Amino acid sequence: MTAAIRDPRYDLLFEPVRLGPVTARNRFFQVPHCNGMGHRDPTAHAVMRGVKAEGGWAVVCTEEVEIHPTSDTSGFIEGRLWDDADIPAHERLVEQVHAHGSLAGIEFVHNGMASANLYGRIPPLGPSNLPVRGHEPIQARAMSRADVDDLRRRHRQAVQRSLRAGYDLVYVYAAHGLSTLQHFLSRRYNLRDDEYGGTLENRARLLREVLEDTLEECEGRAAVACRIVVDELLGEEGIERPEIEQLFALVGELPDLWDVMVGFWPDDSRTSRFAPEAWTEEHFRGIKQLTSKPVVGIGWLTSPDTMVRLIRDGVVDLIGAARPSIADPFLPLKIEEGRLEDIRECIGCNVCVTGDWTMTPIRCTQNPSMGEEWRRGWHPERFRPAGSDSKVLVVGAGPAGLEAAMALGKRGYEVVLAEAGRELGGRVLREARLPGLAPWIRVVDYRRVQLAKLRNVELALESKVTADQARQYGFDHVAVATGARWRADGVGRWHTRPPGFDSTVETLTPDDLMGGRRPAGARIVLFDDDHYYLGGVLAELLVTEGKRVTLVTPAPRVSEWSVNTMEQERIHRTLVEAGVELVTAHALAAVENGTALVVDIYTGRDQELPLDGLVLVTARLPNDALALELGASAIGDAFAPGTIATAVWDGRRYAEELDGEPPGDAVPFRREVVELAPLGVEVTT
Ligand code: ADP
Ligand code: SF4
Repeated sequence: MTAAIRDPRYDLLFEPVRLGPVTARNRFFQVPHCNGMGHRDPTAHAVMRGVKAEGGWAVVCTEEVEIHPTSDTSGFIEGRLWDDADIPAHERLVEQVHAHGSLAGIEFVHNGMASANLYGRIPPLGPSNLPVRGHEPIQARAMSRADVDDLRRRHRQAVQRSLRAGYDLVYVYAAHGLSTLQHFLSRRYNLRDDEYGGTLENRARLLREVLEDTLEECEGRAAVACRIVVDELLGEEGIERPEIEQLFALVGELPDLWDVMVGFWPDDSRTSRFAPEAWTEEHFRGIKQLTSKPVVGIGWLTSPDTMVRLIRDGVVDLIGAARPSIADPFLPLKIEEGRLEDIRECIGCNVCVTGDWTMTPIRCTQNPSMGEEWRRGWHPERFRPAGSDSKVLVVGAGPAGLEAAMALGKRGYEVVLAEAGRELGGRVLREARLPGLAPWIRVVDYRRVQLAKLRNVELALESKVTADQARQYGFDHVAVATGARWRADGVGRWHTRPPGFDSTVETLTPDDLMGGRRPAGARIVLFDDDHYYLGGVLAELLVTEGKRVTLVTPAPRVSEWSVNTMEQERIHRTLVEAGVELVTAHALAAVENGTALVVDIYTGRDQELPLDGLVLVTARLPNDALALELGASAIGDAFAPGTIATAVWDGRRYAEELDGEPPGDAVPFRREVVELAPLGVEVTT
């Protein structure tokens, strides 16, 4: 087989770019991103970054790294470079990145009033006496001149340590609403009347000083990047474009690289439900013309044609990516090798972000190896050879079955993937037809293309498998990935036993709606006791089709769990604007005599809602009958209903573990246990 070559259209993407004293070997730039591992799981983190370098990202950065305990990011687990004790973890990361010829970048953060300093308990610092962001009952203290000097000195010390660790690029961070340098810059938070407040020149003073300090420390040994918010999206209360233009006139030539972003983190990492590829372009246009230094910017960029266009149009010099590099750490290499069809495109779901919000290692819907590179030894592209010449039947081609069949096929097993329906995809096929979720079909597209390349995997569509058939076929192993079905009886978190709703009221489940059924009547009550995206999406579907929809949920907010994907506020706004009536903090207690009875979860007070139809989004039951009958392994939703990400992950796990040593009672993944420090002081009695 001859190796494919890169399409000359994409040559531009592989030009080296000079960043002050260092050179990026191409234009692919993994911007800093959180990962839920940080200082707690340093080796898992380091190896994850190394895999990105292996996949061709010329620059691979850390997440936010704390410079000193006067500003910790607790509530999240990020990087740390407080003193020399933290250097070895960073050396390990740098080694992993350098091993593949990439540059390692570090993003320092002084969170200031964006963090309550819960770990160190040191009162937070900010430009002004204002409560910390979020709802922690703690205020930031207005920084004195001495505090400013301390911050500058500590930032310098962190830079020195990062150079000792071997970093090639050091960030000065004024973005995402998460940095003291930005808080000083922003009229919204900077209420000072000294030389650090008032005019833009004054508000930019701290940023300029820290940039100058950092350049002096780096002394040409590492590039200095400045990450800047180019519009806080707060209107005239916050940083807007005219001020950014003034700022570039002041400091535009100082750093070796500008990394631009828009708004707060939920704006920056907008899900595909709310923003298309390159949505940031309108905000980035013209920035490059304000400076002679290179500019990197993100925008959920997965298409090489869009990347080329943005560079040709003079919008950016480097293609910034967090999520596209998570979904496919090998994206640059695949473009370079002319293997565009192998790109595992990010679906824009923000499941990766949930790792950070739940303080657990990063996960990804598309890339089940993300966060598991060191913990379980999974690689996004390479697979261990098969442990035997076993033949495997995978039943069901939803995300779990597709991933299992693909990974087993790549390991070299003979596989038959049998699917009852006419098309591959299972729940993804159905859900991707719902409002805003079309990009999710990429979960199926990627695997369909990969399966087609595997001669040892046979697809059998329209093949509903029975236990007898499965036995007769003589496979060595059967993996049952038959999915789950939504319950129609109201059981979920609120009702753990069937509540016995009035059966004369037409009742539909998400499966009914996704299968094309619609309620006959106009007034619909949708009870969302699932709390992720589906309840909100189905309410949106029905209201846009002309139904009058009341969404009832026991949670205090609609689609409560989507706080973790940073979508909750946008979902709320979308539903209200679409005309869905929201009844939060209420449970559907009963449906009697054609009426829904909803109770306030705090007071128990009830109210009646008239309805013609009921939609229940509560819980699912695994389709595990076939697995039980065969005594075979159920995987994905057939084993335990969860997210698409958990189903993909479980498909990979099954494939990885086949013919392996069962873990028994051992911890089934690697972890790092902290070394105990000497006991030291006696506790005062
Ligand atoms: P998961 O999320 O675990 O992958 P899905 O519900 O998305 O589960 O997919 C399950 C798939 O299994 C569906 O495409 C369904 O048509 C298929 N399926 C269910 N039962 C059988 C069966 N007995 N034989 C073949 N395919 C089946
Ligand atoms: Fe993209 Fe979703 Fe993976 Fe995040 S979890 S990288 S948004 S596919």
